[in-house]
Amino acid sequence: MTDFAHTRTMFDLPEGVIYLDGNSLGPLPRAAKDRVARAIADEWGQMLITGWNKAGWMDLPARVGDRVGRLVGAQPGTVVMGDTLSIKVYQALASALELRPERRVILSDTGNFPSDLYMAEGLCRTLGADYALKTVVPEAVEDAIDDHVAVLMITEVDYRTGRKHDMARLIAKAHAAGALVVWDLAHSAGAIPVDLTGANTDFAVGCSYKYLNSGPGGPAFIYVAPRLADKVRPALSGWLGHEAPFAFDLDYRPGAGIERMRVGTPPVLQLAALDAALDVWDGVDMADLRARSLELQDMFIERVEAACPDLTLATPRDHKSRGSQVSFRHAQGYAIMQALIAEGVIGDFRAPDILRFGFTPLYLSREDVAQAADILCDIMTSGRWDRPEFHTRAKVT
Ligand SMILES: *Cc1c(COP(=O)(O)O)cnc(C)c1O
Repeated sequence: MTDFAHTRTMFDLPEGVIYLDGNSLGPLPRAAKDRVARAIADEWGQMLITGWNKAGWMDLPARVGDRVGRLVGAQPGTVVMGDTLSIKVYQALASALELRPERRVILSDTGNFPSDLYMAEGLCRTLGADYALKTVVPEAVEDAIDDHVAVLMITEVDYRTGRKHDMARLIAKAHAAGALVVWDLAHSAGAIPVDLTGANTDFAVGCSYKYLNSGPGGPAFIYVAPRLADKVRPALSGWLGHEAPFAFDLDYRPGAGIERMRVGTPPVLQLAALDAALDVWDGVDMADLRARSLELQDMFIERVEAACPDLTLATPRDHKSRGSQVSFRHAQGYAIMQALIAEGVIGDFRAPDILRFGFTPLYLSREDVAQAADILCDIMTSGRWDRPEFHTRAKVT
């Protein structure tokens, strides 16, 4: 059994805060704090440019990629870190489209994160007027897969509602129709068990600053199935994806396998933070994590529904159909969330009316969750949320 009391001690959380926003930005692992301090002082400070070899900076994207890969069911050598998720979405899509030159449609759903849709639109514009992004409501995705679809681009867990797609089923359907698949694991990696190899996906991407706790701006990851890794042409053909970057050839030749998905200089300090943050996972069994996450979610839903009927559950009740977050709707959701944050319970708000709560057993106890629900309901029944200061919108919600 995973010792969640132990993993909790591995995080540096501020006193008096119940953090239900690890789905947006994971908290600081103690090891990351020390590791980054050492990377700055001992590596950057002392080694200067020799750190690329001596401290192994150049190998970090692949080495750390393997550690992330283990958490999403990817074989060693199939995941590499770098850039932000939006960039990785673009790369995966562009490579996938090239593998289906006779088709022109990217299929996605209206529950997808806007950046994924924007990147797809932008890519279609670049490729030409005959390329199109088609979106349908999440429930209609399966039926919309036909032999016009080049690429099915799906975010497994909906960032607003926490609704989860059936990955294996959609992949099987897409492959049967001759389409390729790109899975966005932003709200899956470190949140729920994922088996990329078993599901036979083509491409997958995800970020590290949410459930993997790499810190603000931490790099994204990309997975390419081994059967495709030496076939795909990287659309963003940067020098570090070249077969021999330090030959400084004038022509691009893609590197071996997943290495070709690298673009430019890796974010060494962020990768050091992520590398240390991944130590937390060493003793964690994903099945235990999932079971505890669902237990915490159910507790929260039950308590909130019993004491504050004005909040409407937006997350599916069926365990199979949800990720690791719970969302409620309320027309005054923004102000309610601000009041909650002011009282030490941190979640977030997504327009137009979603209050979002992430459940991360690594550092959240049952007591935390019960207390958070009680504070939320007390704010609702007392009307404390309706103060002018809670209605002022900040830039980041
Ligand atoms: C968080 C998130 C992003 C963010 O992309 P960045 O480029 O890292 O800012 C993209 N897509 C999804 C599905 C997300 O949840």
